Amino acid sequence: MKVKCPTCQNEVEWKPENKYKPFCSERCRLIDLGEWASESHVIKGESFNQQLTPQIDEFSEDLPPADEDFFKH
Ligand SMILES: [Zn+2]
Repeated sequence: MKVKCPTCQNEVEWKPENKYKPFCSERCRLIDLGEWASESHVIKGESFNQQLTPQIDEFSEDLPPADEDFFKH
């Protein structure tokens, strides 16, 4: 079974090993999270760092599971 990644529209095999499903990768998952948080498409490589404050740099590296409060600061 295959589904389309909501972020990049690539086909993704829907299998238990894919911990990022329905996304194709962790990157796409983070992008989607970023969109609901900021309601904009800011996470596109370098523009991500340019448009957001420096303290959000870690976001693209390793997103803590319960970091929603971060965006309310
Ligand atoms: Zn994707």
